[in-house]
Amino acid sequence: MGDPAGAGPEQLRHDKRVNPERNQFNQELEARLEALRLKNLFRELRTLDSPQAPAVDLNGRAMLNFSSNDYLGLANHPLLKEAAVRALERFGVGAGASRLISGTLAPHHELEQVLAQFKGTEAALSFSSGYATALGTIPALVGRDDIVILDKLVHACMVDATRLSGARVRVCRHNDIDHLEELLRWADAQRGAAEESRILVLTESVFSMDGDRAPLRDIVELKNRFRAWLMVDEAHALGLFGRQGRGCAEELGVSNEIEIQMGTLGKAVGAAGGYICGSQVLIDFLVNASRSFIFSTAPVPAAAASALAGIRLISSPDGDVLRRKLWENVNEFRAGIRTPMPDGAILPLHVGDEAAALEFAGRLRAEGFLVPAIRYPTVARGRARLRITMSAAHNLEQVRLLTAALRRLHPQANAPGQPATILPSS
Ligand SMILES: *Cc1c(COP(=O)(O)O)cnc(C)c1O
Repeated sequence: MGDPAGAGPEQLRHDKRVNPERNQFNQELEARLEALRLKNLFRELRTLDSPQAPAVDLNGRAMLNFSSNDYLGLANHPLLKEAAVRALERFGVGAGASRLISGTLAPHHELEQVLAQFKGTEAALSFSSGYATALGTIPALVGRDDIVILDKLVHACMVDATRLSGARVRVCRHNDIDHLEELLRWADAQRGAAEESRILVLTESVFSMDGDRAPLRDIVELKNRFRAWLMVDEAHALGLFGRQGRGCAEELGVSNEIEIQMGTLGKAVGAAGGYICGSQVLIDFLVNASRSFIFSTAPVPAAAASALAGIRLISSPDGDVLRRKLWENVNEFRAGIRTPMPDGAILPLHVGDEAAALEFAGRLRAEGFLVPAIRYPTVARGRARLRITMSAAHNLEQVRLLTAALRRLHPQANAPGQPATILPSS
């Protein structure tokens, strides 16, 4: 036998020789990555060595974090951690099987009961993520004979789910109610006398990258008129808007008219997972037809338990305190840069050009601020932006440091009587 220490490199050389396709494969992918780099669209991971919080540790350096969707600061909240630890001790680490086999543990069931109560629906179903929620729900409800009308800016999970469903797709101009009416009229004409094909309208209540809101009342009125179904993703509204943070549908009084209410448990709720709230028959149907639900191991019990603790906290008086703190931070930010912004915790600064957005984010990072440059394909080409997100966990001083840095890097934000934009919008 030879020296075992020499076996490694020898083995590598051998692999290269017998597996030439692997080189061709890697070369091909390297070329594709190079093409992304040339277009300023290359992305890479940055690893934090700390919990999600207003101040994080990036490669040993303290950074102020204005990039997370942890709007209420629950991702590292003691109550959620305690719930996770208790569930871990009582139910173990893994769920062991899919929900329909033997993976439904008490925390999953309890989470769904509390979610339904909170949202005021008959029933709820939880999924391993918001992405899996859309992917399991939309193709279960519609197929080849049906039509999906989606807002141009809906999240990738709804776009992918619609593609997977095989339904005919029409894209509605963003928040354009007249265009929606036109598309619904067209879709209604397509279904003919038999009325067999369904029409499903997809939108978000608060849009993830622009932070603006959908005109839900008008949309509900239209979809009722044309007998279409409506699915609303409240990923960025749950916990923030409506009574006790129930979301925009509740705030606008249209909850009961939305067939499918969707959301995530990984943003304001501070944990992980996704959900559908609606009628009992919708939930029974999804248990039988949603492939991402059926063919996937149940979420770990600690995730369900911490999401449950998150919902409880959000709907308690402490939740109101956190929301007040969040809006106080948002108002401080808005006063600091005097730029028109959507009314919410997502505060996009439009840059346009991808390279410029990257450079701006890089300069902020050099000054200790973590703010992501959002680029294609998350947003359209040439619509790159900095996406600043505010949390209840920030303090006013941290917010002031950010606005000061933005003003320093973009002096036009300082100019009095120039409220239009801190940056030229494309
Ligand atoms: C983040 C997000 C999702 C996906 O939820 P995850 O739980 O992160 O998978 C779905 N819809 C919208 C609008 C989102 O922003």
